[in-house]
Amino acid sequence: QSTLTVKDLHVSIDGKEILKGVNLEIKGGEFHAVMGPNGTGKSTLSSAIMGHPKYEVTQGTITLDGEDVLEMEVDERARAGLFLGMQYPSEITGVTNAEFLRSAVNARREEGDEISLMKFIRQMDSNMDILEMDQDMAQRYLNEGFSGGEKKRNEILQLMTIKPKIAILDEIDSGLDIDALKVVSQGINQMRDENFGCLIITHYQRLLDYITPDHVHVMMQGRVVKSGGPELAHRLEAEGYDWIKQELGIED
Ligand code: ADP
Ligand code: MG
Ligand code: MG
Repeated sequence: QSTLTVKDLHVSIDGKEILKGVNLEIKGGEFHAVMGPNGTGKSTLSSAIMGHPKYEVTQGTITLDGEDVLEMEVDERARAGLFLGMQYPSEITGVTNAEFLRSAVNARREEGDEISLMKFIRQMDSNMDILEMDQDMAQRYLNEGFSGGEKKRNEILQLMTIKPKIAILDEIDSGLDIDALKVVSQGINQMRDENFGCLIITHYQRLLDYITPDHVHVMMQGRVVKSGGPELAHRLEAEGYDWIKQELGIED
């Protein structure tokens, strides 16, 4: 069972402090949701964990099972078992989706223990069925001409096939129609396992109607200001964020 620990994380962009001391712990078997108004640093948190060079960690630590994530290159983070949704958003010409996926799966396995082609194809096919994806998506070049919805489905296909220890999914629901949202949620729910932990970042409660988080965190002004269970997300849906601001004496 893995643990991703974020301690007192401070992150700056171009010298401006965006994250001001974030604390979070995500364990295998747990689904966490991070919610919060626009511009409070949710995506910055995701980008910092991913290792985006623009996001400068000025204070605090990120560890995966005690290993210093901040010391790792981006590809090392993936090999260590972190899955960061927006890691491969761009088109990579000349690499098919299936080829990319297989190399990502093998990157996490020991040399000499690569997945057999048959086994890989079987797993990929069954995951594509769950996600209601056309089989020809496997032979398309990665992300080339994928629609917004296809990219999101494909991201979840990557998640299901790579089977990371911990995943950070930022706004996986944005731009999805309700049918696609259900299918994508089904894929994520299928991952529920004590060896898999997930941080779902979302602006809307909607996604959480399909994926029930064990823990809900609210971010405001660069910090996690409140944590609770699924009922917290429902209260936010009904009442917005004002009551939290009042509780904490935060001004807009
Ligand atoms: P959220 O995901 O919660 O909406 P973000 O993390 O995207 O918030 O943004 C937090 C703040 O950091 C915002 O003020 C935003 O303008 C700023 N910011 C985020 N990314 C960048 C960037 N690449 N360059 C400059 N400012 C950024
Ligand atoms: Mg934003
Ligand atoms: Mg965001």
